[in-house]
Amino acid sequence: MPAKPKKDEKPVICRCVCPYCDVEIIVEDSPFCNVCKVSFGRCASCGAVIMEEKAVKCPSCGKPLKK
Ligand SMILES: [Zn+2]
Ligand SMILES: [Zn+2]
Repeated sequence: MPAKPKKDEKPVICRCVCPYCDVEIIVEDSPFCNVCKVSFGRCASCGAVIMEEKAVKCPSCGKPLKK
């Protein structure tokens, strides 16, 4: 029996750590690290924070990201 992808799973978006300085970042409308002055992208579909600069699709829901 093939495993079905879980669609009801909600991504964890309340706690994220900056990949550059390991400090917890503020995740609101636009995630932003106060230490590095770096902002991060966010998935328009599920709201997950995109940490990878070169990511072309959301690691959480798999939908393509808008630039
Ligand atoms: Zn940082
Ligand atoms: Zn997503």
